Amino acid sequence: MHQLTLAEIARGLADKKFSSEELTKVLLARIAQLDPQLNSFISLTEDLALTQAKAADARRANGESGALLGAPIAHKDLFCTQGIRTSCGSKMLDNFKAPYDATVVAKLAAAGAVTLGKTNMDEFAMGSANESSYYGAVKNPWNLEYVPGGSSGGSAAAVAARLLPAATATDTGGSIRQPAAFTNLTGLKPTYGRVSRWGMIAFASSLDQGGPLARTAEDCAILLQGMAGFDPQDSTCIDEPVPDYSASLNGSLQGLRIGVPKEYFSAGLDPRIADLVMASVEELKKLGAVVKEISLPNMQHAIPAYYVIAPAEASSNLSRFDGVRFGYRCEAPKNLEDLYKRSRGEGFGAEVQRRIMVGAYALSAGYYDAYYLKAQKIRRLIKNDFMAAFNEVDIILGPTTPNPAWKLGAKNSDPIAAYLEDVYTVTANLAGLPGLSMPAGFVDGLPVGVQLLAPYFQEGRLLNVAHQYQLNTDWHTRTPTGF
Ligand code: GLN
Repeated sequence: MHQLTLAEIARGLADKKFSSEELTKVLLARIAQLDPQLNSFISLTEDLALTQAKAADARRANGESGALLGAPIAHKDLFCTQGIRTSCGSKMLDNFKAPYDATVVAKLAAAGAVTLGKTNMDEFAMGSANESSYYGAVKNPWNLEYVPGGSSGGSAAAVAARLLPAATATDTGGSIRQPAAFTNLTGLKPTYGRVSRWGMIAFASSLDQGGPLARTAEDCAILLQGMAGFDPQDSTCIDEPVPDYSASLNGSLQGLRIGVPKEYFSAGLDPRIADLVMASVEELKKLGAVVKEISLPNMQHAIPAYYVIAPAEASSNLSRFDGVRFGYRCEAPKNLEDLYKRSRGEGFGAEVQRRIMVGAYALSAGYYDAYYLKAQKIRRLIKNDFMAAFNEVDIILGPTTPNPAWKLGAKNSDPIAAYLEDVYTVTANLAGLPGLSMPAGFVDGLPVGVQLLAPYFQEGRLLNVAHQYQLNTDWHTRTPTGF
């Protein structure tokens, strides 16, 4: 039963082949058996899961239906869950039980989804390897000596290991797409404003966006349907109707114009990944797509701009964690200053402290113009590049990451080396565009992802292309040995 996708689960529940309660028990047992190897969960919510599963079964017995009614999922541990620890992967929030549900959590619960637990993540979503978590590193099910990607590494590892069919995640600079690529999943970062950020603990508010991680595009469509939509409690959430994403999956790709940016094929890209990217283009050509080389001339500035803007916003967002109102407080503070200094010094890990310092520096009076303002100007140029490209093509295709997953610990002493791995993903966040990563092959037994980018609110187009690709390839069906 653990092999079923969300779409198959929905059919099985509708046909009364099994109940949500039965399925939930199977998956909880599987998590108990296998997760000690992976460390993909921070908290399990067995009681809540069984209560929700029974309620979903009762709703179905009463004639209700719905693709998520009774479907087991998990939430990245930065979505607030009422009465349940919401740690954000940090000692700072180790004892924090959220007093309310995030909009995403509430919407999915209302649709009948069953929450199995809260997944591990990089501390405050800062990272690309899931090694900065206070709760320890997550292992990649494809090779337990390798990282699963980050910051949504727990959600990715759990879904890839078939502990559950799908999970929520968030993407500030690639944290849905990059772990999807590293674990052979499909992950979608929606358009900025498509999914409510209310109750999602902020990293960089102008970049953060929640979205689905699953095995297939078809399942991403189902989960996104439950997450997307206007929320008056998030002032940046956009009041646009939510299309039927599942209905968009079956469109023909005849005449689809794919743009492949020439800047993507620089020296930093593993040539074996370049070959798999071009193989995916050939596959889409067989389905009727036409390919065109395009240019994104300001791409080279994306990493420096992102690593100014994201830390700047983080330094501001994380100022609320001061040991006074909630979260970690140091023992026996001597005075107020000591309370602030030690609570923050002891509560935050090294990567979070580095970002706060970089961000505070970039925003400081003497350097604001030189760094923060400059980065915002670059951000606009990057957006303009995309707008020009989307005048010529319908979709942009390239690698999700320049390299496959790396060994645990390999980049710990060199944060810049890890930052450079985000080169293909951060541009979508800077521009606010939707992006999807889908499985496209293997290098040395490790999965490789191809990234698709589309114009604002064209999540349906991304899901359509990925679904058609998945109907004609079997990369996404490969299962890691032992799981
Ligand atoms: N790897 C990027 C960072 O460390 C992106 C993280 C994210 O998307 N949350 O900032």
